[in-house]
Amino acid sequence: MAEKKPGKINGIRISTVNIIMICISFFLYIMLISATIHISQKYKDVHNSMDDYIVCEENHLLLTEGSAYLTEQARLYAVTFDPVYMENYFTEVHVTRRRETALEQLKSYYDGEKTYEYMLEALQHSTDLMTEEIYAMRLVSEAQGYEQDGLPSEVQSVHLNSQDQSLNQQDMIEKAREILFGPAYQEAKTQIFDSVDNSMESIHELTHRQMLENAGDLESTMANQRRLISILFVETIITFIMISVLIVKPLHVYVNCIREEKMMEITGSYEFKYLALTYNDIFEIKNANEAMLRYRAEHDPLTGIINRGGFEQLKNVFRMQDAPLGFLIVDVDKFKLVNDGYGHEVGDQVLKKVAGLLKDGFRATDYPARIGGDEFAVILTSMTEEMSAVIKRKITEMNDQLMNPQDGLPQVSLSVGGAFSDSGFTDDLYQKADAALYQVKEHGRCGCRFYEEGMETS
Ligand code: GH3
Ligand code: MG
Repeated sequence: MAEKKPGKINGIRISTVNIIMICISFFLYIMLISATIHISQKYKDVHNSMDDYIVCEENHLLLTEGSAYLTEQARLYAVTFDPVYMENYFTEVHVTRRRETALEQLKSYYDGEKTYEYMLEALQHSTDLMTEEIYAMRLVSEAQGYEQDGLPSEVQSVHLNSQDQSLNQQDMIEKAREILFGPAYQEAKTQIFDSVDNSMESIHELTHRQMLENAGDLESTMANQRRLISILFVETIITFIMISVLIVKPLHVYVNCIREEKMMEITGSYEFKYLALTYNDIFEIKNANEAMLRYRAEHDPLTGIINRGGFEQLKNVFRMQDAPLGFLIVDVDKFKLVNDGYGHEVGDQVLKKVAGLLKDGFRATDYPARIGGDEFAVILTSMTEEMSAVIKRKITEMNDQLMNPQDGLPQVSLSVGGAFSDSGFTDDLYQKADAALYQVKEHGRCGCRFYEEGMETS
């Protein structure tokens, strides 16, 4: 029976809810972790663009320093005529190479970017200016009459134009100083600084743009993260509610039902409903079995009426009541002869017939019982002595039927002794009825008498 019921059950399955919740949690955790990774990546990007900016600023400075150093050394040479300054100049050009180093480093960071293009331009201006500076240094060397072979190859290879060659020593110096300190030179230096400034401006813009992009990205990812955490929180609350509704509450209800020994309420998830229906089936079978066992314990299997045990319980019930009642002891006369003459089975049929007569002959509110082999008792509820004639008449009718059998069974008769009580089943009632029965047996059997004062009780 329990096997058929699950098909009719409507309810959410815990296993399904469990799988859905696990999938949602897993998805949310993955999203949250990827958002967190994205945030840390963006943070690194911000950090890197700041680092790049600092490196770039340093390299701009390096190029400017290199260029300023060349100017300074060329000018010092033109002023002091000390060859050490020319030496310093070419050491910067060939060995220290600050300007080129700066460009190389910038290339690795900003190749293809505008900032790098401007720096290339600055280097180009600086390199162009070197031609002027070397020319000026050549003029100074010529004016000072320094040995050609002792000069750096770049200075050696400079060809002074015919006009400059014709200048005297002082004019040559003047010319060199004009080249290095004149407005054209200053103009060229300004171009270098302008290119460096443009490059710095470009890197400013680039870094600012990157920062804005990263900050925007960071903000939207963090907003997503906040949303995901909120969804995760809601999902956790829903999980708790589901556990409470589908598991905790039904468990509580079921434990109470078991404690109170009653049928289970069909509540909770599919699984709990299934459990409750199965339990209820078993509960019903158990109750039916118990009722059957109780019935068997209280009823006589041969006649189907209450047995001795049931009669004792009934007596206890009526002992506690205070309504008037009547009590009869019924004994089959010379029953041994029936058994001896017709056999035990016929005897059984006669006992069943007597039980049937007692059941049908009295009211539904009266209780006939088989209390011995051929001995019966009847508790007559709401019965007073005034109604003894009615009882006697009923017994007479039963005896008439038993003495004139239509069913092929042997003739028998009943001896009945009765007694009345004004208030429930009293202790002396049995003895009084038995005393009355004894009188009937003594006076020829087949009859009914009620206890009267003076009758001898055992
Ligand atoms: P009396 O008129 O004095 O009552 O005589 P009696 O022969 O009926 O004597 P008693 O009441 O002592 O006999 C009861 C007999 O009932 C004895 C026993 O063999 C028989 N008996 C008891 N239980 C059963 C039963 O379940 N089936 C049958 N067939 N006979 C039973
Ligand atoms: Mg008998």
